[in-house]
Amino acid sequence: MTRRHAVLRTRGLVKEFRGFTAVSGVDLDVAHGTVHALVGPNGAGKTTLFNLLTGFLTPTAGRIELDGQDITGAPPERVARLGVARSFQVTSLFPQMSARAHVELALQAVAGGGRRFWVSDRRMRRFTERARELLAEVRLDGLAERPAGSLPYGQKRSLELALALALDPRLLLLDEPTAGMGLEDVERTVELIDRIRTGRTVVMVEHNMSVVGSLADTVTVLQRGEILAEGPYESVKADPAVVEAYLGA
Ligand code: ADP
Repeated sequence: MTRRHAVLRTRGLVKEFRGFTAVSGVDLDVAHGTVHALVGPNGAGKTTLFNLLTGFLTPTAGRIELDGQDITGAPPERVARLGVARSFQVTSLFPQMSARAHVELALQAVAGGGRRFWVSDRRMRRFTERARELLAEVRLDGLAERPAGSLPYGQKRSLELALALALDPRLLLLDEPTAGMGLEDVERTVELIDRIRTGRTVVMVEHNMSVVGSLADTVTVLQRGEILAEGPYESVKADPAVVEAYLGA
């Protein structure tokens, strides 16, 4: 396999809701080690596509492969276990629990497959150490002991990113990583994703085009469930069909 093999590949992916086609024959190739952005006007099918990739929705037709393995129709737990981690838009943190404890718990759950209740001291120390590394990676090292509920919004999103990274994913899906953020947090998040991207493969839905321009190696533009354009940001941005889709949206 070459270094840039496709971690994720979809072929002819279709999702219909009671006769309405939300995703219509999408062929996506996400190369290893790249950041791949999904953009498009509201209703283009981005969320539906994400839900198909994570097993939250079952495709009406088509195929999804992860590192060459067919995962079409696999339920979310299995897709997660095979290495697809999703950082959610909504916060799902325990307000009283520290940032560090969240990451330790995630590491423990991954290591034990959710079935192991007893953990040796040595193993726990390893989790604590790894949790510290992950929190440092997302620049939360100074806030590790703070209850998650007391973290500012931007830092909560960073913690969610650390939780996704705790899965050591083959593919990291980011659902609007800068949604609802002010300029300062947007800049911090771009810097953060730029740091964590090394050696990782990322697919993100993102509305902020300057974020897409800063981070994405490849951009796929969706419109009415179909791929309208695909390629590097600069060429996609200049594509007349894309300009029209955005102006007409
Ligand atoms: P985007 O994320 O790009 O805004 P979505 O994937 O949310 O787009 O939606 C694509 C289209 O599919 C929209 O027209 C939406 O109304 C429709 N859709 C999404 N989910 C459902 C559903 N569960 N039932 C019926 N229609 C849906």
